[in-house]
Amino acid sequence: MKIGLIGLGIMGKPMAKNLLKAGYDLTVNDLNQDAVAEIAAAGAKTASNAEIGETCDLVLTMLPNSPHVKAVMLGEDGVAAHMKPGSVFIDMSSINPVASKEIAAELSKRGVEMLDAPVSGGEPKAIDGTLSFMVGGKQEVFDQFKSVLEAMGSSVVLCGDVGAGNTTKLANQIIVACNIQAVAEAFTLAQMAGVDPKLVFQAIKGGLAGSTVMNAKGPMMIAGNDKPGFKIDLHIKDLNNALDCAHTVGAPVPMTAQVQEILQWMHNHEGGQKDHSAIAQYYEHLTGIQIGR
Ligand code: NAD
Repeated sequence: MKIGLIGLGIMGKPMAKNLLKAGYDLTVNDLNQDAVAEIAAAGAKTASNAEIGETCDLVLTMLPNSPHVKAVMLGEDGVAAHMKPGSVFIDMSSINPVASKEIAAELSKRGVEMLDAPVSGGEPKAIDGTLSFMVGGKQEVFDQFKSVLEAMGSSVVLCGDVGAGNTTKLANQIIVACNIQAVAEAFTLAQMAGVDPKLVFQAIKGGLAGSTVMNAKGPMMIAGNDKPGFKIDLHIKDLNNALDCAHTVGAPVPMTAQVQEILQWMHNHEGGQKDHSAIAQYYEHLTGIQIGR
């Protein structure tokens, strides 16, 4: 099976390396020719997007957002126009599920099946090959290509029809953002009431309030460490998609709207390149305290 991968950024590059390690015949492309050269040196072939469409049985993308995936696949001289009937497209980017469905509908006119398969785990898990894939699409297409995703991830779950992968990712991103805000708010209260947030963290992390988010982000807030991990601007992108999707389906999302305003405030005052746990700095600006310090 010939696989093409378009998008060799923070995530796409290590994912490409894991596909090569698993022995797949891989052809890659990106606007960034340094990234293409790095993956070619690791054993991949290189080609234009159109050539990838013409020659590959499976096309993968790992691009920033819906407009990028739409442009690469359906834009002028896009990949879709070159794909053979019977070939398959799997988009691993985190995009709006409404866009996933639109792209799948266009591809089905050409006899091309699609899965949406966004991931969680970030760069460290992309490197280790232990990402979690949330997948949408037909069961038989999922069964056929699950092993390709397993070369890059340790959990691969089919969540429903096309769009269900990205809907699940939006749910994930809502829970992470609101959890970060809750931890930041609670630590601020504790410190202003005279209790050390380090001790609060130690005392509650094993109870009901404990979470993977608090374990990962609590110590960063306490140390004042805002090195990304996952950048504020990417989380703004995901919550914009969540709000857009919610407005389309009529779901109430007041918590998402509020934490999005805080992320946007951070983007305007601190830039969008800090880790999303820097939501804590919004509370520090408001109160004049420094959490844990
Ligand atoms: P990135 O910005 O590092 O990489 C995107 C790549 O796409 C870049 O190399 C860019 O040059 C390339 N690209 C853009 N347009 C292109 C085009 N027309 N043709 C070819 N290449 C093109 O982004 P990333 O961090 O790798 O994230 C990719 C996706 O994965 C995003 O949707 C993101 O939300 C999601 N994601 C990221 C993380 C993370 O921690 N970084 C975690 C989970 C999910």
